[in-house]
Amino acid sequence: MARQSAWDSALIQLAEAVKQLGLDDGTHALLATPRRSLTVSIPLHRDDGHVEVLQGYRVQHNFSRGPAKGGIRYHPSTDLDEVKALAMWMTWKCALVGIPYGGAKGGVTIDPRLYSRNELERVTRRYASEILPIIGPERDIPAPDVGTDEQTMAWFMDTYSVNRGYTTTGVVTGKPVSIGGSEGRGGATSRGVMFAAFAALRERRVDPRDCTVAVQGFGKVGGLAAQFLHDAGCQVVAVSDVKGGVYNPQGLNPVALLRHIRSGAESVVGYPGTDAITNAELLELDVDILVPAALEGVISDDNADRVRARLIVEGANGPVTPDGDAVLEDRGTVVVPDVLANSGGVAVSYFEWVQDLQAYFWTEDQVNVRLRELMERAYTEVSELAAERRVSLRTAAQMIGVGRVAEAHRTRGLYP
Ligand code: NAD
Repeated sequence: MARQSAWDSALIQLAEAVKQLGLDDGTHALLATPRRSLTVSIPLHRDDGHVEVLQGYRVQHNFSRGPAKGGIRYHPSTDLDEVKALAMWMTWKCALVGIPYGGAKGGVTIDPRLYSRNELERVTRRYASEILPIIGPERDIPAPDVGTDEQTMAWFMDTYSVNRGYTTTGVVTGKPVSIGGSEGRGGATSRGVMFAAFAALRERRVDPRDCTVAVQGFGKVGGLAAQFLHDAGCQVVAVSDVKGGVYNPQGLNPVALLRHIRSGAESVVGYPGTDAITNAELLELDVDILVPAALEGVISDDNADRVRARLIVEGANGPVTPDGDAVLEDRGTVVVPDVLANSGGVAVSYFEWVQDLQAYFWTEDQVNVRLRELMERAYTEVSELAAERRVSLRTAAQMIGVGRVAEAHRTRGLYP
């Protein structure tokens, strides 16, 4: 069977939530359709002087509950359908964790590893200029995603501010603290992954110190998720990146691995004291907790029957396809879904935006305490609904998110 794309997955999950909630066809159609999709071309002067034209996207899926919010991805396989799926998931995620945003996502089809820092700055400034008419602190607030980081957000904020004629810190989140970023944002998604994992373990009366962990994608989310889980007493036995993975059944030291990467190593592969494994093998390791934190669609009906982890905590967006979910559910594998498990990032993005708008900043402890409260509340709501309706955590999470957005549409009414 053809692999389900991210957009297929998003639509199938939405249809299930709509069915469970008993929503009408009109509401279903409204929720399935992005409000705005913008495709832009980004002409770039390469360092050698020739001009190349890249494609960029910004999709605003929904803003019935507030301004749109979502990251910007720089990746060679990014296309409009992927961005549409990611934007839709942002809408449900923001509604699920109760923050007053709709969902958006952006992307540029580019492999950032093949471009210099100066070229990436030019790409970012041109892309920001192209989508500038539809973004802003009250309209749509970008953030980092795969292949982008704090520096990307700093260029973005600067480009927007220079064009407007005044500094607008609230136009993006995930910025450096020196220009209006929030303490705790850098690790927020990963910390949230840990809170979600521990909430699921607590419910099953499992001690995290008895758990082994494998993390796919040792990037912004996966790298710190591995570190936080390790710091909390779990044994992280495998991690990977786009080049492959490393495995040590006695446990890895994610802190040392992060230092290795930050000191300029291109990959975790080849790290001393580890065995090489592939990304496919990592997903099939006999571990207690699997954290896919790279890209979507990595667990499908092709490999789900070989996944041995008891608990999957989705650091990435959309790593398990609906047909993969069906296999896992039959096998009794618990999946803490993306819209819940990785919502710590957008939660602290919201905190950052609130701080920017108030021009009043919180301590890292305040941020972390509020993040924990928000995620534990969301986990409890999802878990209770899943038990009451006898559905998976994914369906319950989608039902809460989709239900809140449908309710906002009902309350606002249809214009004209
Ligand atoms: P990143 O670019 O920092 O890291 C991505 C990691 O995945 C890198 O280690 C990369 O080498 C690896 N990777 C890329 N392609 C791969 C492949 N084909 N196979 C295996 N590994 C591969 O990105 P990130 O911000 O950590 O995002 C990772 C995931 O988490 C994405 O799905 C993203 O949408 C999601 N997410 C990110 C945030 C955030 O705050 N950054 C928040 C919520 C969700």
